[in-house]
Amino acid sequence: MARVGFIGLGNMGGGMAANLAKAGHDVRAFDLSEEALAKAKEAGCLPVDSAAEAAEGAEAVITMLPAGKHVEQVYTESVFGVADTAAVLIDCSTIDVETARRVADAASAKGLTAVDAPVSGGIAAAQAGTLTFMVGGTREGFERAQPFLEEMGKAVIHAGGNGTGQTAKICNNMLLGATMIATCEAFMLAKKLGLDPQTFYDISSVSSGQSWSMTSYAPLPGVGPQSPADKEYQGGFATGLMLKDLRLAMEAAAGAHADTPMGERARELYEKFAEAGNAGLDFSAIIRTLGEDA
Ligand code: NAD
Repeated sequence: MARVGFIGLGNMGGGMAANLAKAGHDVRAFDLSEEALAKAKEAGCLPVDSAAEAAEGAEAVITMLPAGKHVEQVYTESVFGVADTAAVLIDCSTIDVETARRVADAASAKGLTAVDAPVSGGIAAAQAGTLTFMVGGTREGFERAQPFLEEMGKAVIHAGGNGTGQTAKICNNMLLGATMIATCEAFMLAKKLGLDPQTFYDISSVSSGQSWSMTSYAPLPGVGPQSPADKEYQGGFATGLMLKDLRLAMEAAAGAHADTPMGERARELYEKFAEAGNAGLDFSAIIRTLGEDA
């Protein structure tokens, strides 16, 4: 079993580090939060005092941090100076493509191997070890990262060179944001035209309007399988995180001169919804803005 440095033990990283410890790895864990460190200790990790201490002597260094600025700072100030050239540096955070590429280039200039490996799946999947990882990096980087990622996920896919993991993530979530809003609209229109929502679900989930937002995550309570809609939109994937990903997608689209009108509209609508005090609700709660009084 290997020594792993894990930096960022929040909602996602806490569960991921616990799964590596459960698999028998020697996990040296670091977070700025004492509470997160205490939880990691309970889960079988060894809490350490700094990111550098977590990275030193590790075969894999894994980061799960809020945003690009945290990732760049942790790697340049703490990890690069101590990491072994045989180690693989794996950033699982969702960050902008440009920063992901800059960090990988800086690693490579120091003879280190870095990959971006953002995830699909929320806190429950992080705890259950059923995340999907989309990995950007060289073939060698991917192969070094794969065994560690497999301990934390159900699917590990090589997307291409550095930054393509982040590209896959933001394109996927742009699609998700837009299909969720379209699904909500379709349910509300069907209802207002007198069609029972469950009947519409039964038809549309096996017809050409089908999508994950419809079939697995129907945004109305009592319709389709259990989803956050059945729990007053608590849990699930927070509106604030969907907005973060849509902003990253729009930033990347502007840089690439890509025309993304549906993605842009989804960003606007999620921004408005989050600013109205709903950032903590599951993103399917946006259906409430299309209700009877909308
Ligand atoms: P979180 O805020 O719960 O956790 C982030 C952790 O990083 C915190 O514990 C914080 O103390 C720690 N941290 C910040 N700066 C640090 C530093 N310099 N050194 C050490 N620790 C530091 O966030 P989260 O929900 O776990 O999300 C982490 C990443 O995963 C984000 O990029 C997010 O977009 C992505 N993501 C989240 C979800 C989700 O459902 N929560 C799903 C997919 C992807």
